[in-house]
Amino acid sequence: PTIAALDADLVECRACPRLVEWREQVARDKRAAFADQTYWGRPVPGFGPADARVVILGLAPAAHGGNRTGRMFTGDQSGDVLFRALYDVGLASRPTAVSADDGMRLHGVRMTAPVHCAPPQNKPTVAERDRCAAWLDAELAVLQPTLRSVVVLGAFGWQAGLRAFADLGWIVDRPRPKFAHGARTVIRRDGKELVIFGSYHVSQHNTFTGRLTPTMLEDVLTAAAEHAGL
Ligand code: SF4
Repeated sequence: PTIAALDADLVECRACPRLVEWREQVARDKRAAFADQTYWGRPVPGFGPADARVVILGLAPAAHGGNRTGRMFTGDQSGDVLFRALYDVGLASRPTAVSADDGMRLHGVRMTAPVHCAPPQNKPTVAERDRCAAWLDAELAVLQPTLRSVVVLGAFGWQAGLRAFADLGWIVDRPRPKFAHGARTVIRRDGKELVIFGSYHVSQHNTFTGRLTPTMLEDVLTAAAEHAGL
């Protein structure tokens, strides 16, 4: 399928009962606070071009960010940090992302998540992660011809990402490389190499405490972009 067809199918997915209820309940409860906007309340597709050379893999949409705006990392403080960093290293057209129709363009980068629906407390269950893995596999299968670098935000995405690439036939080191900020691992298939770069997640917990600074994030994004020839 094309990325557009995949995204169109994804937004209809209702496979996880707990997440369907949560995403819709949040949308109902919070609609009044954002009365001038349509509250998305559905699976959030990846964002960025189908011929991306870099993919950024997060965790899951935020209840009032992606779940509200319908676009990954858009409309919450985690996303503000990520888009600012992407803009500062020349990978995004605007420094802030506020809504799905704000004109934002990513340059050679697509962002997605191993779980496409907002989970309570940002914690998907193992079953939910495993169910959504089919969407991640399908998306990475479309992207892999042009992909050169993968930036993974946090340990959850690291594990999900390694597993997805292994599912697609990429050779991943054994034992599996461990997640760390600044971790790198190379995976191989058919004479081609992809480099996977680890970064702490842009969650408020990490950015408010200074565990992840803008410079640390920009350094990882720059390394991934350089490897990808962007
Ligand atoms: Fe479907 Fe993934 Fe959402 Fe579960 S988390 S309902 S598999 S899109």
